[in-house]
Amino acid sequence: MSECRVCGGAVREFVDFGRQPISDAFPAAGAESEEYFFRLAAGQCEDCTMVQLMEEVPRDLMFRQDYPYYSSGSAVMRKHFEQTARRFLETELTGPDPFIVEIGCNDGVMLKTIKAAGVRHLGVEPSGGVAGVAAAAGVRVMVEFFEEETAKRIRETDGPANVIFAANTLCHIPYIGSVLRGVRELLADDGVFVFEDPYLGDIVAKTSFDQIYDEHFYFFTARSVQSMAARFGLELVDVQRLAVHGGEVRYTLTRPGARTPSPAVAELIAAEDAQKLTERATLEGFAANVQRIRDDLVALLTRLRDEGKTVVGYGATAKSATVTNYCSLGTGLISYVCDTTPAKQGRLTPGTHIPVRPVEAFQSCYPDYAVLFAWNHADEIMAKERGFREAGGKWITYVPEVRIS
Ligand code: SAM
Repeated sequence: MSECRVCGGAVREFVDFGRQPISDAFPAAGAESEEYFFRLAAGQCEDCTMVQLMEEVPRDLMFRQDYPYYSSGSAVMRKHFEQTARRFLETELTGPDPFIVEIGCNDGVMLKTIKAAGVRHLGVEPSGGVAGVAAAAGVRVMVEFFEEETAKRIRETDGPANVIFAANTLCHIPYIGSVLRGVRELLADDGVFVFEDPYLGDIVAKTSFDQIYDEHFYFFTARSVQSMAARFGLELVDVQRLAVHGGEVRYTLTRPGARTPSPAVAELIAAEDAQKLTERATLEGFAANVQRIRDDLVALLTRLRDEGKTVVGYGATAKSATVTNYCSLGTGLISYVCDTTPAKQGRLTPGTHIPVRPVEAFQSCYPDYAVLFAWNHADEIMAKERGFREAGGKWITYVPEVRIS
């Protein structure tokens, strides 16, 4: 049991992935002994239903100068965020001198479009390297962690925000109460706080257990977000399901009574009830499915090794750290993992120490099989790597179950 970071209730554990490293820290050869490990386990609050990690990793170990996740790396995500920005420009940012703040703007993938439209904006991004890329593109960015005190300072210098946006970031912040108090402080009276994050409903339905890693502290539902919003003086007024990153929900919060809640909120909560999403038996069933997938994946990779097949990984993603460490996949089963991020190349995967190579290594000498660790970008990657299948190569995926295609 641990204490809920949202409401102080008792959090009861339902799944344990054991000892895990920082998912986005790739050690150089020889520096393996310096890695930080923690116990990765998730539980659910018995009071407010929020699903969350049992143990917190210090934020400075994850979000550092050399944080290697660049949002603009995916064409699908570039398009998604350009559309998001255009939607804000056409709806919420039409008044006199509008102002938008993005929490976790990363390399400026969304704010670039806002900047090009000449609209007042500010990104708050603690990871110096990615923030530097945003700044180089002309995006106004503050290299800090967003919390209550940051919000107060922004309000003093820039005034209230019509939109506060956070993508794949709010679920990364254990001290979420401070963030929500900050949002309340900074938001204009009729402003909106919009955030999108992986959805627990999709994670349970697809057994996408690799969504659980150090950076993902919370796993939201419409019900848990509605309760959390009310606790911090905000109201959930809209939800929208998104296909990106394996299934997300975009939540819109306002000050209470500022907007009429859309019917989509009650509909999604009813769907969650029908899925029995927050019931203990469902979460225990999820944990049992996770173990089954681990056993199937290890059995398949062991068989392929014994048959003398070559197997590599595709995408040294943060989420793959959960898979490789939980399943103990080392170089005995996976020769190397290829990735497009230069900062990961030449390094080792966290915890399991598989070499990371450029994608060109994969393209110049196709293996027999590739485990698609970046399964959430499957369409984009399989289209780009059409030659692999044409040469007889096969993809291995493990969400929602182990499959060769
Ligand atoms: N918004 C981008 C996207 O959706 O692609 C980036 C998502 S990335 C997974 C999470 C980002 O949140 C990182 O760039 C990290 O540095 C940032 N972050 C973590 N804690 C934060 C905080 N308290 N305030 C602002 N950004 C934070």
